Amino acid sequence: MTLPRQKIVILGGGPGGYEAALVAAQLGADVTVVDSDGLGGACVLTDCVPSKTLIETSNAMTLVDRSAGLGIATGGLTTVNAARLYERITGLARAQSSDITARLAAENVKVITAKGSLAGPQNPGLVRAGDKQLRADAILIATGALPRILPGAQPDGERILTWRQLYDLTELPPDLIVIGSGVTGAEFASAYQALGSRVTLVSSRDRVLPHEDEDAANHIEEVFRRRGMTVLGRSRARSVRRDGGSVTVTLDDGRTLTGSHCLLTVGMIPRTEGCGLDDAGIKVDARGFIEVDRVSRTSVPGVYAAGDCTGVLMLASVAAMQGRIAMWHALGEAVSPLRLDHVAATIFTDPEIATVGVSQRAVAAGEVAARVLKLPLATNPRAKMAGLSDGFVKLLASPRAGVVLGGVVVAPRASELILAVSVAVEQRLTVEQLAHTFAVYPSLSGSVTEAARKLMDFTPDAP
Ligand SMILES: Cc1cc2nc3c(=O)[nH]c(=O)nc-3n(C[C@H](O)[C@H](O)[C@H](O)COP(=O)(O)OP(=O)(O)OC[C@H]3O[C@@H](n4cnc5c(N)ncnc54)[C@H](O)[C@@H]3O)c2cc1C
Repeated sequence: MTLPRQKIVILGGGPGGYEAALVAAQLGADVTVVDSDGLGGACVLTDCVPSKTLIETSNAMTLVDRSAGLGIATGGLTTVNAARLYERITGLARAQSSDITARLAAENVKVITAKGSLAGPQNPGLVRAGDKQLRADAILIATGALPRILPGAQPDGERILTWRQLYDLTELPPDLIVIGSGVTGAEFASAYQALGSRVTLVSSRDRVLPHEDEDAANHIEEVFRRRGMTVLGRSRARSVRRDGGSVTVTLDDGRTLTGSHCLLTVGMIPRTEGCGLDDAGIKVDARGFIEVDRVSRTSVPGVYAAGDCTGVLMLASVAAMQGRIAMWHALGEAVSPLRLDHVAATIFTDPEIATVGVSQRAVAAGEVAARVLKLPLATNPRAKMAGLSDGFVKLLASPRAGVVLGGVVVAPRASELILAVSVAVEQRLTVEQLAHTFAVYPSLSGSVTEAARKLMDFTPDAP
């Protein structure tokens, strides 16, 4: 006798949703994804993919800037064709979304283009998708998040913008004010400055990237300032007003800033309105994010949640893992609960900041004992050849056994260089094992093994 196929309904086709759908289909379930805006989600259509595509162009501009020092005569001013740039970005995002659509179709995942919602406690396991009703053995909510809007700064899509509206512009903002100096603000400020905009970065905190490694954040702020960016610390924006072709930002202390455009990067709110969470009895936290445990279960049996709508480390990789874990759990597979302490993440500024594992902040707070070593990139032979002087590698290792606990890489393509540290952290390698690993000569990754060698010399500083 064959058992009936388990029915899975997924609300949202971003990485949290579509990666879950692939796992569920692989396990033989009957899977339907309900998505309102296009597969790939905000990740592919408006957030991660478009921003990283923009940053590839800004990286190329940085290289052009550096090229004179490398003996190249560019013969004049290099400028960016904004229309072509934005067309490339949106085209690439659409193509990526089509690839995901084709992949789901190939795995026999059904897709309904509609807004979905839970039917409520009288009908557990029932999902409304437009005018359809779908019965499910398990439901996954992966509806993502929306840009947070400041009360006094209503975006108009032309001059006052969220990052999702940037790609509709017809020009590069000549004078851009970025409000918010978290990851998104820092990335766009860095990119637009390299593309040729005059950039002012408004930070309500003492420094940019207040939640990141302090050395890395101070370093990037120093790079920003050196390249001509105005960075305003301890400056909270109260309101943004459009005056024809310009914008005026008023700060809490009464100062005003004028620019051509203002980009708001002040966080995200969960996108769960209309999903029927209240009716279904799904618990949310004080900010409205869906509460989940480490196998993605919500407070209602049979209903799981993944990705940005849960507010757990808002990264595509984490969303995808939460979604997969939900399906493994729902379909009775052995599953390891989500672990966030080994997540590798990158801030795509120039240079990039990549981190993994234990932070120096945790060491300073006495939460973890570790020896820490920071090695500037300026002494690396490959960096010298490439004309790079900014950046460093930092490793953290346990005091006695020297197990690699974490690391920070600040460098061009740090997002790639962090993998060696990430493997070491995941596999609990010692600095000695890392130090004995061959690195190519000359290479930036040589600084990772060199830092490990230097950490071997450390006298243990803990009993
Ligand atoms: C500017 C920016 C850059 C980023 N860069 C990176 C990066 O470099 N690396 C990284 O790992 N992460 C990055 N992120 C984070 C990453 O984009 C998110 O973590 C990821 O998109 C979360 O995926 P998700 O599936 O939860 O939601 P989303 O990608 O937001 O997808 C949710 C989907 O659900 C749909 N939906 C919403 N409501 C409903 C409903 N009621 N019914 C049906 N469908 C619905 C939406 O239309 C959307 O398609 C970035 C974020 C931003 C803002």
